[in-house]
Amino acid sequence: MRYISTRGGAAPRDFESVLLAGLAEDGGLFLPETWPLLLPEDWRALHGLPYPDMAARVIARFTGDTFTESELLAMCRDAYAGFTHPAVAPLVQLDERRFALELFHGPTLAFKDFALQLLGRMFDAVLARRGERITIVGATSGDTGSAAIEACRDRANLDIVILHPVGRTSEVQRRQMTTVLSPNVKNIAVHGDFDTCQDLVKAMFNDAPFRAEMNLSAVNSINWARIAAQIPYYVAAALALGAPEREVAVAVPTGNFGNVFAAWAARRMGLPITELVIGSNRNDILARWLASNDMSARPVEPSLSPSMDIQVSSNFERLLFELLHRDPAATAAAMRAFRETGRMPVPDAAWRDATALFHGHAVSDEETVEEMRRLHAGGYLADPHTAAGTAASRAHPPADRAVPIIVAATAHPAKFPDAVEKATGMRPPLPPHMADLYGREERFSVLDNDLSAVEGAVRAHARRNAP
Ligand SMILES: *Cc1c(COP(=O)(O)O)cnc(C)c1O
Repeated sequence: MRYISTRGGAAPRDFESVLLAGLAEDGGLFLPETWPLLLPEDWRALHGLPYPDMAARVIARFTGDTFTESELLAMCRDAYAGFTHPAVAPLVQLDERRFALELFHGPTLAFKDFALQLLGRMFDAVLARRGERITIVGATSGDTGSAAIEACRDRANLDIVILHPVGRTSEVQRRQMTTVLSPNVKNIAVHGDFDTCQDLVKAMFNDAPFRAEMNLSAVNSINWARIAAQIPYYVAAALALGAPEREVAVAVPTGNFGNVFAAWAARRMGLPITELVIGSNRNDILARWLASNDMSARPVEPSLSPSMDIQVSSNFERLLFELLHRDPAATAAAMRAFRETGRMPVPDAAWRDATALFHGHAVSDEETVEEMRRLHAGGYLADPHTAAGTAASRAHPPADRAVPIIVAATAHPAKFPDAVEKATGMRPPLPPHMADLYGREERFSVLDNDLSAVEGAVRAHARRNAP
């Protein structure tokens, strides 16, 4: 299995190199040179396997020689052992045709744990083999930071430093990061906003001597391994609902397009998914594009579903490349135009192909609250992101009434207690393993928006530097 860049300017390479590189050197995103295709009997052979075992078999289609079968199986079992539901990704029926695929039973209560728990282990294994050590730095406004910290804590060959803006994350989000007291984890609260933190991280990466000294790396959302690790839960859900004999539809509350692209990839591998519904909030660039081929960025506005407050969906480039029949020059040109003008020119034929499979719906805050209320009346407490997904699926039900709809439930309601309480009157309690979160010791440094101070703190933390 080899990988190519969506922009055509990087030599094909193996999974290990794609895992470590993240972004291709031409600015493009990695995709498999050819998609693995599973036959009905291959899907059937996955029936009844425990989640980690099934996941290892699916992910093995992408990892080539990087890991042996037994290494990958051990990593998957270890990664998902910390999930609190025995099914790992359980399906809960919401109404006669809708099912919530609950992706929030991992350590930080959101779906990003599925990819990051496995990625932390993959990084560590590859680095150990190479005798290397890296320092991961990142900025967060909330969810990604905690998932990355949980994934990297206590790993032998990596240290992690996460910057968050003082007072601008929710208390649950901050505590999920700052109460991790592992020696290889450092939290820095910066006076400023999320962009201040993001700019400091970019500046560290642009400081070439510092970057080399610390062996800086990122676990950002465009890493192919993250997509690969998100495919198995769609397989689990579809098999549970009768695939490969029965078709299913999938609805995904979408921000960076990573999660819904994983569903697209599962379909590309032969899973019978008839349609993909994208739920957005008022940051509706994808819904506008699907409605009228207008892909134009607008300023980001805050909403009840903050993890979807995104205007430039970085993983969209992967779909674009496929829609353009894998033409790297055309993909690079469209991405360049988007960067320069804020508008992405997508040829009409490609857009029409997309609309045959994808539907989009922008869910307002009012509609999100209404949907949380409706679900609660039916006995289900949903977080605002999940509600955006179910509301979108309601707007675009498959014509064939026999087709069940899988809705990705991306966060635990207790992660967004204020929004849930406002909609339903219920304040969702934290699950038992996190019930003492408010009593745990916190540890973090507070720094000004000062690059040399932040670099000093990273240098003091990184074992990369130890004798
Ligand atoms: C990250 C996130 C999303 C968006 O997922 P993408 O893969 O970026 O589209 C949706 N919901 C929650 C709760 C998230 O944390």
